[in-house]
Parts: sequence; structure tokens; C-alpha cells
Amino acid sequence: MKHFRTKGFTLRFTISVLVITAILLTMVISVFSALQVNRSTLINNYLQNNEQYAKKLALTTNELLITMQQNIGAIAKISEREQVIDVQLFDDLFQENTQYFNSVVVADPNLVIRAISPHTTGVEVGDRLNSEQSKMAVELKKPFVSKPYRATTGRLIILVSAPIIDKAGNYKGFVGGTIYLEEKNVLNTMLKEHFFGNGSYVYVVEKTGSLIFHPDRKRIGQSVIENEVVQKVVLGKSGSQRVINSKGNPFYAGYAYEPSTSWGIISQTPTMVIDKPLQLLVKRVLLQSLPFLMLILLMGWWVASRIAKPLHTLAQFSDEATLHPNQVQHIPDIRTSYYEVRLLSQSVKIAFQNMNEDINQLRNEVKIDELTGLANRKAFDAVMGKWIDLQVPFSLILIDIDHFKLVNDTYGHVVGDQVLRYLSQTMQDISREKDVCFRYGGEEFGILVKHVGPRGAEEMAEKLRTELELVNSPAGQPITISSGIASYPEHTHSATDLLLMADKALYQSKTSGRNQTTVSSIK
Ligand code: GH3
Ligand code: MG
Ligand code: MG
Repeated sequence: MKHFRTKGFTLRFTISVLVITAILLTMVISVFSALQVNRSTLINNYLQNNEQYAKKLALTTNELLITMQQNIGAIAKISEREQVIDVQLFDDLFQENTQYFNSVVVADPNLVIRAISPHTTGVEVGDRLNSEQSKMAVELKKPFVSKPYRATTGRLIILVSAPIIDKAGNYKGFVGGTIYLEEKNVLNTMLKEHFFGNGSYVYVVEKTGSLIFHPDRKRIGQSVIENEVVQKVVLGKSGSQRVINSKGNPFYAGYAYEPSTSWGIISQTPTMVIDKPLQLLVKRVLLQSLPFLMLILLMGWWVASRIAKPLHTLAQFSDEATLHPNQVQHIPDIRTSYYEVRLLSQSVKIAFQNMNEDINQLRNEVKIDELTGLANRKAFDAVMGKWIDLQVPFSLILIDIDHFKLVNDTYGHVVGDQVLRYLSQTMQDISREKDVCFRYGGEEFGILVKHVGPRGAEEMAEKLRTELELVNSPAGQPITISSGIASYPEHTHSATDLLLMADKALYQSKTSGRNQTTVSSIK
């Protein structure tokens, strides 16, 4: 038999692991679903906010352009009457409009400049405008907002123009207000106000997909038509979506179309802005559920212990009982509310009791003399060996019936057996409970007298001898016995020698005339 305890996992461990895994999985799932819900809410918020914001900016831009065109229209009205425009008056008109325009110009139908303010633009009265867009203003003879273009001065500009028409209805040229896209202007002043500080930004494209406003001024004029959102917005669409910008970074973008100019306004937020709040959320969920988690873990451990403990005790008991059947004293009392464990415990109990009975029976069969009911020689050897091992002092009285052959011969074996039983009974009567009476074999007997030296043993042997001498045996007359005594540790420390010495003493009793007791003389 071997111990199996070291192999595999204990039940408590397995149940605990199961409980803990279940709890942790539940945790992970709930954190994950909380994350998912919050993530899509956040994403929707950013998409919608950006779209609303782009729409609002489109409206504001539209209103701004209307105001700008009205202002240019007013200047056109004034210019209509003058043949030569007064420089001072024109500078004053420009001053009133500096918040909208970087410069204001009046050109005749041949594109010759009649008035210009400020005087630092690089072109002056008498110069000729030659850009396609200014030609277009003349051709249209209507209020007009140009595409961005490079002016004679090299600046990238937008022209907001209004025609000058005299009372007779003749076209006299136009008044144009410019926006210098690459310098501080009305657009970037307005759009730059709206900065979130979370990496969000706004940019504006015109019809062909070129940037007319971008926080990075160097990019103005560049085409970003490859951008998915730009492609949609220049087609007149408004909406929101996730988009990758030209630098490869993902954004939540909202976009709106400004119809009067065909401009597209895009407001976008980097997707990573949602990472931080989500991390915070996970942290908060984990922290909040930590005490509950600990509690549930403890409970799980406790339940696992409750289930496993009786089984553990039972298993240990079975193991012990299998290994050392002689040493197991009692069956552990197993109290449990689990039906299966109770059933198992009862079965083990019954099995163990049966086994115990079997063992006892075997033990009796092997160690008890059938005729007399005394311990047999095997038991005698075992008891003597044990006492010597434990260093219990004792004496051995070896007894042999005198002329027993004669009893058999005279009265028969049945009576002989009765005499043997009678002697056994008498031996037990005169000995104490802690002494062991045994039949050594045939008509030879013995007593192991516990805690008694040679003298005490001699007294006991004499008591037995005299008792027998006086009382009639089943044979109708008394029997006599001869005894030999040897003591541990007085005579020897060896079981074999003790037996030899007692036997020798017994032999001496026989040769000295029988019916007597001899204590071993050897020391
Ligand atoms: P002594 O010991 O005094 O020298 O003489 P003894 O006649 O007792 O001699 P011995 O020891 O040689 O004889 C023993 C006899 O005991 C022999 C045998 O017939 C008898 N005997 C042995 N076992 C039993 C038994 O179980 N039942 C009966 N009835 N007789 C037995
Ligand atoms: Mg004999
Ligand atoms: Mg004899």
C-alpha cells in the first residue's frame, strides 16, 4: 500500500480554484461589457458633438460672409458716385472693415485699381489686377466669393466682391475685400477661438478639397481630397464618422457643408481621447468591486472548506486505516450537511467496523488455544516480546503436570482433557487480571506474572501447587504439578534465555521428585 495523498489536487483546492475562476470571469465580463457600453456612448458623443459643431460653424461662416458681402456692397454704393475716390475716405472705410478684410480694393471694368487700402499691400492705384478670379468678378458683374488664389503680390487670398453699378445701370467695376489665408484673418480669428485642448481641431476646405483654414498655417492651400470625409463634404453632405487623417491618425470627425461658398467645415477629435476616461472607468469599477470580490472569495473558500473538510477527514482516515489497521482506534465523527458526504461517511464506518470484526476474529483464531481458552504459545511469545520491548519487569512460571500420561492411560483422553481445562481454570483463579495464563503445548502451561520478581512468582506457583495438591481433579483425585521460574530482568534480558532458564528450573523440579517449584539459580 502506498500513500496517494501526494498525487493530484485536493478537493478543497479544486473547488476553490473553480469558485475563484468563476468569480474572476464574471468580473472580467462585467468590466468588459461596461467598457463596451461606455465606449460606444463616448464615441457617439464625440461624433455627434463634432457634427453639431461643424454645422454651427457652417452657419456662422455663412452669416459672416453675408455680413462681409453687405459691407462690400455698402462700399460699392459709395464708390458708385465718385469719379476719383478720396484716399482719406477710402482708408476710413477700410478701417471700419479691418475685422473682416485684410485689404479692400476698387477696380474699374479693365481691372485697373482705382483705390486700395491699406497702402502696404504691394500694389497701388493705377496697377492692374490680373488674376483669373478678379477677371471672373468683372465677367459676372454680381456679388461673388472667389476660390482661393495666388494674387499678384504672391499672397494666397479669397476675394469677396460686389459690382459697382451707376444710376443709369452701367457697370463700373467692382469693390473687393480680400482675406489673406496665410495671415491673421477673419476666418482663423473666428475658428481659432474654438479650441478644446484635447487635440480636437477644425479645418475648412473649399470646393476642390484645398485647405483654406487649418490650425497648421503651413498646410493652407494643400489639397486633402484623398480624405474620405473631405470627399463627402465637398459633395454637399453633412454627417459624422471615424476617419484616418493624412498623417495616419484616427479621428472622430463631424462635417458640414456651407452652400453659399461650397466650403466644407470639418471638426474632429482624436480617437485616443476616449482611452483615458475608459481607463478611469475600469479602475473605478475594479476599486469599487474589490471589497465585494474579497468577500465573495472568502465565502468561496469557506464553502469549499466546508464541502471538502469532511471528505478530507474521511479520506485521511481510510488511508490511515488501510496502512495501519491495528492502530486505528476509533472512526472520526463526521458532521456534514451534504447528503453524499454523509452517505459516504456511513459506508466507510460500516466497512471499517466489519473489517475490525474480521480482524478480531482472525486474531482470536490464531492466538487462543481451543481446548482451554487460554492464550496459545504464539500469544505467549508476543506478550513476552512486547513486555521486554517495553521493559516491563515480569516473571515466567513454566508448569508441567506430573505423570499426566498416567491420567490418560487410566481414565482416557476425555478425562485427560477435562483435567487440562480444570488446571487452566485454577491457574486463572489464582493469577491476577494483568497476568497472562497460557498453554504452551500438550500438558505444559505457563503464567506471565506482570510486575513481579522471582519471589513473588514463586509464591504464586506455590499457591497453585498447594491448591491442586489438596483438591480433587476431574479424574477423582488431585493432580500435582512441577514448576520452573525465571524473571526479567533479574535473570536475563533475552526472551529465549528466559524460556530456557524456566525450562531448566522446571526440569530440576522434575528430577528432584516432582510436585515442587524451582526458581532459576542462574544469574
Ligand atoms: P512427567 O511429565 O511427570 O515426566 O510425566 P508425564 O507422563 O507427564 O510425561 P510426558 O510429558 O512424557 O507425557 C505427556 C503426556 O501428555 C503424553 C500425552 O498422552 C499427554 N497429552 C499431551 N497432550 C494432551 C492432550 O491434549 N490431551 C490429553 N488427554 N492428553 C495429552
Ligand atoms: Mg510434559
Ligand atoms: Mg508431564
